[in-house]
Amino acid sequence: MIELPESVNLARELKEALKGKKIEKVLPPSSVHKFCWYEGEPEAYDALLKGKKIVSVESYGIYVEIIFDQETKLNFNDGVNIRLLTEEENLPVKYQLAVFLDSGEKLVFTVAMYGGIIAYQGENTNEYYQKNKIGVSAISKEFTNEYWINLIHSVKPTMSLKAFLATEQRIIGIGNGVLQDILFAAKLHPKRKIESLSEEEKDILYQKTKSVLEEMIRKGGRDTEKDMYGNLGNYKTILSKNTYKEGCPVCHGAITKENYLGGSIYYCPNCQPMKK
Ligand SMILES: [Zn+2]
Repeated sequence: MIELPESVNLARELKEALKGKKIEKVLPPSSVHKFCWYEGEPEAYDALLKGKKIVSVESYGIYVEIIFDQETKLNFNDGVNIRLLTEEENLPVKYQLAVFLDSGEKLVFTVAMYGGIIAYQGENTNEYYQKNKIGVSAISKEFTNEYWINLIHSVKPTMSLKAFLATEQRIIGIGNGVLQDILFAAKLHPKRKIESLSEEEKDILYQKTKSVLEEMIRKGGRDTEKDMYGNLGNYKTILSKNTYKEGCPVCHGAITKENYLGGSIYYCPNCQPMKK
């Protein structure tokens, strides 16, 4: 899934590779996916995008947006996989959108579980998109200590850390993936309640939210996610489906895997105790 490190890197890669190139044609899905969303009918995307030049690519939280002109944009979000294929490479049998460029390259979009591939003109009023577009990212200069303390005070004191950090896009781009290593680095249990945190723990969590995300971005995303060339990121996840069986890298104890708030959580019960 695309979270902040991946959206930042995908936007950079797309911009470097595609800026100035034009759309030659757009093919609608070769295979209908029940949980892939479009703006209107994807069959109309060709007429909307044909001949448009890519002027920029931006990322907003879990969204990546390709910008053609002030009016026309194409964005995709966390559940969408994107690949850039060369002229020689064939399209996969199943895809949810294929965009041909005047360079001969092709952008292919596929969806595993769910995702949106949204081409539009004018305003995009989708609530989730707006939340990500105007929200504050943990790597921005607006994410000050004061902002953090206000954010903590804006939620119920009984809210768990996972709910606080990884739901509602309260801090854009943080989902159930990057959450795990942030909490591990802060030595905090995902089910700890906000009200149980000491002032020092709040500060550690603030620092680690920023530094773990920055490291993930610097290393080209997580090793559980692929970039648009199909390469895994270079950030080695500590707690993920790939690694949790290896045990805790600090105390060498077993990592616990549980289902919590609609997704797996991983934690070291020794390094991230529920109670002090
Ligand atoms: Zn441990």
